[in-house]
Amino acid sequence: MQRLIIISNRLPVKIELKDGEILAKKSEGGLATGLDSLTNNYERHWIGWPGIYPENKSDENRINAFLEKDNIYPVYLSKELIELYYEGYCNDTIWPLFHYFFVYVRHNQMYWQAYQEANTLFLKKALEIAKPDDIIWVHDYQLMLLPGLLREHLPESKIGFFLHIPFPAYELFRNLTSRKEILHGLLGADLIGFHTFDYMRHFLNSAYRIMGVDTKQNEISYDNRVVYTDTFPMGIAFDKYHNAFRTPEVMKYIDEYQTFYGNQKIILSVDRLDYTKGILHRLSAFDMLLDQHPEYKGKVSLLAIVVPSRDTVAQYKELKNRIDEKIGYINGKYSDMNWVPIFYLYRGLPFEPLSALYHLSDIALVTPLRDGMNLVAKEYAAAKNDKPGVLILSEMAGAAIELTDAIIINPNSIEEITDAMHTALIMPEEEQKQRLEKMQAIIRRDNVDTWASGFIGQLQEVHTIRSEIQKKIFNNENLSELKAGFDNAESKLLLLDYDGTLVPLIKDPAKAIPDKKLMGLLKKLTAKSGVTLSIISGRDYTFMDKYFGSSDIELIAEHGSFYKENKFWVKAFSQSDDWKKEIYPIMQKITDKTPGSCIEEKNSAIVWHYKKCDDWLADLREHQLINLLVSVCTKNNLHLMRGNKIVEVMVSELDKGNAAKRLLNKKSWDFILAMGDDTTDENLFAALPEHAYSIRIGTGATKARFNIMNQKAALKILEKLAE
Ligand code: UDP
Repeated sequence: MQRLIIISNRLPVKIELKDGEILAKKSEGGLATGLDSLTNNYERHWIGWPGIYPENKSDENRINAFLEKDNIYPVYLSKELIELYYEGYCNDTIWPLFHYFFVYVRHNQMYWQAYQEANTLFLKKALEIAKPDDIIWVHDYQLMLLPGLLREHLPESKIGFFLHIPFPAYELFRNLTSRKEILHGLLGADLIGFHTFDYMRHFLNSAYRIMGVDTKQNEISYDNRVVYTDTFPMGIAFDKYHNAFRTPEVMKYIDEYQTFYGNQKIILSVDRLDYTKGILHRLSAFDMLLDQHPEYKGKVSLLAIVVPSRDTVAQYKELKNRIDEKIGYINGKYSDMNWVPIFYLYRGLPFEPLSALYHLSDIALVTPLRDGMNLVAKEYAAAKNDKPGVLILSEMAGAAIELTDAIIINPNSIEEITDAMHTALIMPEEEQKQRLEKMQAIIRRDNVDTWASGFIGQLQEVHTIRSEIQKKIFNNENLSELKAGFDNAESKLLLLDYDGTLVPLIKDPAKAIPDKKLMGLLKKLTAKSGVTLSIISGRDYTFMDKYFGSSDIELIAEHGSFYKENKFWVKAFSQSDDWKKEIYPIMQKITDKTPGSCIEEKNSAIVWHYKKCDDWLADLREHQLINLLVSVCTKNNLHLMRGNKIVEVMVSELDKGNAAKRLLNKKSWDFILAMGDDTTDENLFAALPEHAYSIRIGTGATKARFNIMNQKAALKILEKLAE
């Protein structure tokens, strides 16, 4: 069976030692439930912190042995490390930053060091357990360096990462002092999962802007690999919540609470104590509701359950005090002898009483200021069965993307929350049922099992794609074969692109000129007996002539519009220049609106370059430019082409394939090698006979027989041939 190694900060069990005896308390969290469903198809192993500080090695060994039988492997973290890594970097730096609480963020070098240290401890344990074919799935913001660390040691492994909290907008993320290291760590994964498209978009944007990496839709080229990103909104165990009200354990609580609350309408509020949850705003809204609608006094109560969390952190302590105060204030203001407006529980409830409350409550008020997903919203909607209810949901919760049939509010607006409560209280039952049905269909389908299996399935697929790419990657064996073919052949033709193949792609094309080393290499190759070397470039002939005019290289410029023969440049097309008068102003207009872009005019083409521009802006302008150009190009019989950060309009008779044919047909070549990196080189690859070697630089889809990772590797091949 395929092995699956889960790595998360916390294990699915909490270990305690009582009078020397090991006690294990199972966690009911969504992650553990979702991953349980994978055990039919995978042999599951779990690495994480057991929530205990054993006093000595012998206790550690006993706990290890106790957990190992369930394939659970604890990582022990000292109290000091938990303080600096978990309470510090995770919850005092990353948590507020990723939830847009910028003023709460603390930058502390000791936190950061501890975070690195903790991630390294998880790595050490993973290296003890993991085998090369295992799937490794790393979870959440506590372990963002781990995929990168794992990749260093296990370069071929299947590594997935899922972020359970929001990924913030670039403008916020860029403030993190360790932003590059965090991104490098995440990019060690093959697949990075997010709850929503927005979080993914923010991540891609940050990777592009901070790391300067190429991103293409949901793919990032990094470190000679392709990293995929996608959205996997986390779900819940739908049936468990939907059918809970029928179970005797839950029915017992339903009866008890029903008797207690009688005919009162109940608005339910359930969260961990956290400033992201918007609890104070919610209380203010309830205050406003009673103020604006005195008819609800005595008839509607708010049941506020606040689950203690991180109460050693100063901000949480303060929040707790303010909640206590506010509830006291509201209760003091409106209570009478027979009625209390707010019932307040500062503790967590187990599944059974909580499900009973979901079932009974008329409204769930879920109004976080920011929340990665929010499972309470899904649980409430799922738990509704024969008794309807209304979900009021913050648009800042990830769940709002899916649960569009809730009453969606902006949690910063006390008025909106107040109005939503009133709307919910007077909503006809039929409408409540209709809304619930629609939400339930989604929660049933995108449940926690489909979340877990969807992620793992995609990770496997991504890995298959990677293996397919790997198969086409030009390897050492191919290189030996190529070299032998070259050495044994009498007539040899080398067809080489210039930018991105002989010289690296840089922002300023004028600076991409051949250096001495390259000139020496080309000279060595052309001096070999039987070799014809041709550079087929998109550059104009003046550039080509300036740098290669005096060599023995066959020069083809402007994608084949010009070629040099017997020391003279020959024009290979018949069209006049009239079309330029129409095209140029269009390109100029777009250039004026796009800082960093420029126009290059060639004899047979006009090119709009946007290599120096912001990706987002370039994308927009490219789209606009193409829209403007299409009809003009059709009318003038011109070829409109998107290349590597360029849009080119050229006379339509020509491409690199046609241009190469002149040389290909000159004789019957024993050996042919073509190399290029761009879409324009695809025409060249397509024009080659079967026995030719063709190599595309980069991992993009290609008609070439092989791919190589980068331009440096292309030069290495030529150096080998020149030996
Ligand atoms: N929960 C619970 N008992 C409580 C309150 C909450 O078991 O008294 C559970 C709830 O059922 C849900 C989870 O805690 O599964 C909270 O998840 P959510 O995504 O809403 O918020 P988080 O705490 O992860 O920020």
